[in-house]
Amino acid sequence: MTGRQQQQPAGSGRSLTPLEIYSRLEKSNCGRCLLPGCLAFAAALVAGTRKPSDCPALSESERDELAQALRPRSSSPSHLQADFLDRLEEKIRAMDLAAVAPRIGATYANGLLTINSLGKDFHIDHLGRMTSQCHIIPWVRVPLLSYVTNPTHRLPTGNWISFRELEGGIDWQGLFRSRCETPLRELADDNPELLSDLVELFSGRTVQLFAADINLVLHPLPHFPVLISYQAPEEDLASNLTMLFDECCGSNLHIKSAFTLCSGLVRMFAQITRQHT
Ligand code: SF4
Repeated sequence: MTGRQQQQPAGSGRSLTPLEIYSRLEKSNCGRCLLPGCLAFAAALVAGTRKPSDCPALSESERDELAQALRPRSSSPSHLQADFLDRLEEKIRAMDLAAVAPRIGATYANGLLTINSLGKDFHIDHLGRMTSQCHIIPWVRVPLLSYVTNPTHRLPTGNWISFRELEGGIDWQGLFRSRCETPLRELADDNPELLSDLVELFSGRTVQLFAADINLVLHPLPHFPVLISYQAPEEDLASNLTMLFDECCGSNLHIKSAFTLCSGLVRMFAQITRQHT
């Protein structure tokens, strides 16, 4: 590891910072880890969205040392997420992606599985690495890989159910309301054009299903349609927003990944709104 700093002893218990990790990397910014450069890779290691073996410039022993140095934080949420990603990638490596593609509404060509999320294409290779023309946000990666590796799969039925009615949804309902429905309702209250804008930005469509100001259908995954139904506040009536799911969603994504996907979506909508204002 030419010119790299002294390694932190394994098991020291102190979390590595992105700069400390960066000092151990080649710093060539070659991009083979599918990130813009070594600093971005170091930050991704800390966030738990990449692992040392994703940098081909590191030798096997350097990868092991780095992995060990990161290990003391194994009970942190980001490291738990990294462990989960490891398991998902392991599953991907054992899969025949070409055979899986038509079943999950994806396509396969040149060794890449392509999945459309909200009108944007994401590509996954046989090692579980993901690329896209748009910036890959960590919250997209877990649900996408989880979707591909999910053991069951159903086609959309056209019947809408609540999050609570999805398999395992009862346990997550409180968190879903506080992290997804409530902040999205508040966003829509403050930005009356938001939901209509989402139709165009994310290849959504409006439907006439319920008595509401807008019923918007989005596809964060090909066979994972979400219906957002919003009624604006009126005189002394408070606003109302409900997120509903096609019946198939419970078969196509584990409830935890469904929550990660929805809460990530709402955070992204909030970010878009902040940028616009
Ligand atoms: S593959 Fe390794 S050396 Fe190349 S940019 Fe990524 S972290 Fe840096």
